[in-house]
Amino acid sequence: MPTIALLSSVADMRHLHQAFQEEFPEARLRMGDDLGALCEIDAAVCWRPPPGLLARMPNLALIQSAAAGIDHLTSDPTLPDVPVFRIIDPAMAFGMASYVCWAVVHRQRAMADYLAHAQAHVWKPRRLEPPQQHGVGIAGLGTLGLACAQALMALGYRVRGWSRTPRSAPAGLQAFHGDAQRDQFLSGCDTLVCLLPLTPETMGILSRDLFERLPRGAHLVNVGRGAHLVEADLLSALDDGLLRAATLDTFVEEPLPPAHPFWHDPRITVTPHIATATSPVVIARQTRLNLERLRQGNAQAAAVDLKRGY
Ligand code: NAP
Repeated sequence: MPTIALLSSVADMRHLHQAFQEEFPEARLRMGDDLGALCEIDAAVCWRPPPGLLARMPNLALIQSAAAGIDHLTSDPTLPDVPVFRIIDPAMAFGMASYVCWAVVHRQRAMADYLAHAQAHVWKPRRLEPPQQHGVGIAGLGTLGLACAQALMALGYRVRGWSRTPRSAPAGLQAFHGDAQRDQFLSGCDTLVCLLPLTPETMGILSRDLFERLPRGAHLVNVGRGAHLVEADLLSALDDGLLRAATLDTFVEEPLPPAHPFWHDPRITVTPHIATATSPVVIARQTRLNLERLRQGNAQAAAVDLKRGY
């Protein structure tokens, strides 16, 4: 009967309790201030766990990220040397695809203007820019990026993607990879969607240097991590017309502080890290499955490659 700690320094992990009871009833759960003896903990399910805590669990055998990303774990220099797993969930990809389609359509079709006109009872149609004339680039062609690319192609957008290594792309998707093809990829992105993992290579990638390589007046959608974006560079790129608009779901500081300039800028749409979410049932199921893999000695293939960083 495994003992599992549910750990977070920012979220109330009690929302996972019922799902674990249903999906993994034999697990003994520990959370909050009531972790008991740390030497009894076999596995930890984490969303931004308190730094240093995992290293104090001498018999920890498995770390399960409660999210698709693992940057909230690898940022802890004391992370113990045990297998780390992340959530891979098609339902989560649908959530992300619907958010990204909304963000692209909202700006490309000037929906904010129409909503403001409707408030004022103004009837003012504009010429429609067909989606085939609008290039959307997805930086990060993984589980989530591919789902977004497919959904956007179904709406008729001209979609391209960028990954670290060559990928077999579905028909109609123009695929680029590596640093050598980055600028060619960026040159066709009227909207750029960031769905990269946060690693030393991608931190601060959404900078002035990158904005200068996009078509002038592009729209930036950041659904990756806040630290992908150099915030000051975004504001100056909007002022200079390099970018026309930004839709941001993730921020270095969350919640975004009330006085932050992004809240007050009509060119920037802010959402509170809601692009998609992991279902508690999936977290409980995947934790159980990964512990099972560990017991059977075949966890390595499913675990995150920490040397790669995502
Ligand atoms: P994934 O399956 O691991 O895919 C990551 C993609 O990024 C891969 O295509 C990878 O290339 C590419 N990549 C990594 N480093 C790169 C680099 N240096 N240059 C170019 N491409 C690079 O990840 P995922 O499950 O799709 O999730 C992506 C990210 O979405 C997560 O890490 C997280 O930050 C974010 N996220 C946000 C929310 C939200 O609600 N806002 C929710 C969930 C996840 P290869 O194909 O060559 O490996």
